[in-house]
Amino acid sequence: MKPRSPRRIKNVPKNCPFCKNDTQPSYKEIEFLTPYVSERGKILSHMRTGLCSKHQRHLTTSVKHARHLALMPFMLKPN
Ligand SMILES: [Zn+2]
Repeated sequence: MKPRSPRRIKNVPKNCPFCKNDTQPSYKEIEFLTPYVSERGKILSHMRTGLCSKHQRHLTTSVKHARHLALMPFMLKPN
């Protein structure tokens, strides 16, 4: 049996701009949320974003809130 190749997930060092600027992720400010969403519309994990756990939690809820209000897409189909 072929051994499983190790998963290649790049760990981004912790660098939380929300902590630096003392702001919270908001569902109204989509321009701050879009860098933390993949091109397919998925929310990126804390390993990819480099946010702290508190702001990663806030980001997830605000993206979901923005999706519910149709400000952000649930899913994007590749071209
Ligand atoms: Zn933070």
